[in-house]
Amino acid sequence: MQFTFVTLFSNLVEGYFQDSILKRAIDKNLFSVHYLDPRKFSLNKHFKVDDTAVGGGAGMVMNPQPLFDALDSLKSKNKNAHIIFLTPVAKQFKQNDAKRLAKKEHVVFVSGRYEGIDERVIEEFADEVFSIGDYVLTGGELASLVLCDAISRNIEGVLGNSDSLSIESFETELLEAPSFSKPKLYKENSVPKEYLKGNHSKIRTLKIALSKCKTKFFRPEQLLKHKITKR
Ligand code: SAM
Repeated sequence: MQFTFVTLFSNLVEGYFQDSILKRAIDKNLFSVHYLDPRKFSLNKHFKVDDTAVGGGAGMVMNPQPLFDALDSLKSKNKNAHIIFLTPVAKQFKQNDAKRLAKKEHVVFVSGRYEGIDERVIEEFADEVFSIGDYVLTGGELASLVLCDAISRNIEGVLGNSDSLSIESFETELLEAPSFSKPKLYKENSVPKEYLKGNHSKIRTLKIALSKCKTKFFRPEQLLKHKITKR
């Protein structure tokens, strides 16, 4: 699988893949990461990529020409490239999207900067648009990385133990039960006693109960969905 970040600031993205699980996955050729700088496609003699907004308004908007040419060149090399634009106004990215997109051959993330991207680029090239939440970031790079990380951990082989995925929060309506590490007693706080007795059926029952408590506390609407689907 291939990811391409279309960004004016690839240096903001690159570091994320230089350590830990995603680096190991790249080293094992489970996916590759590429960068495309729209500035390199600008026909402006100073390689400008933005201009004031037509019709007025504060700030600068990313011009259509560099992005049209960058994305045309990308599409001409791989017509199956699945192009995603990051924007605060779109629907929010969810775990199901991560799982679905992990099956694509080539996913492209287009990051806006300034006041955003000329809408004609989005209309021409977007296969999908996503937001990562109801707040405004300075640029799309962080949002692109959020999507890329969530997608890549769903690519087969990326996580050492694929069981980690099946028990994680958002796989079902219930959030994952609380996790504990060693030591069993730390600063007078013990892990739940049942976890220590080795009776796996009892541990499983307790984990489900804790999982429901956690869901009720953090995401009550999810627990309601769980109860409805169990009926
Ligand atoms: N003027 C735009 C608006 O009010 O809708 C905001 C532009 S923002 C300063 C610049 C870029 O950051 C956007 O084009 C987008 O790529 C990215 N961005 C900002 N917030 C985002 C979010 N919540 N989710 C995804 N991308 C976001």
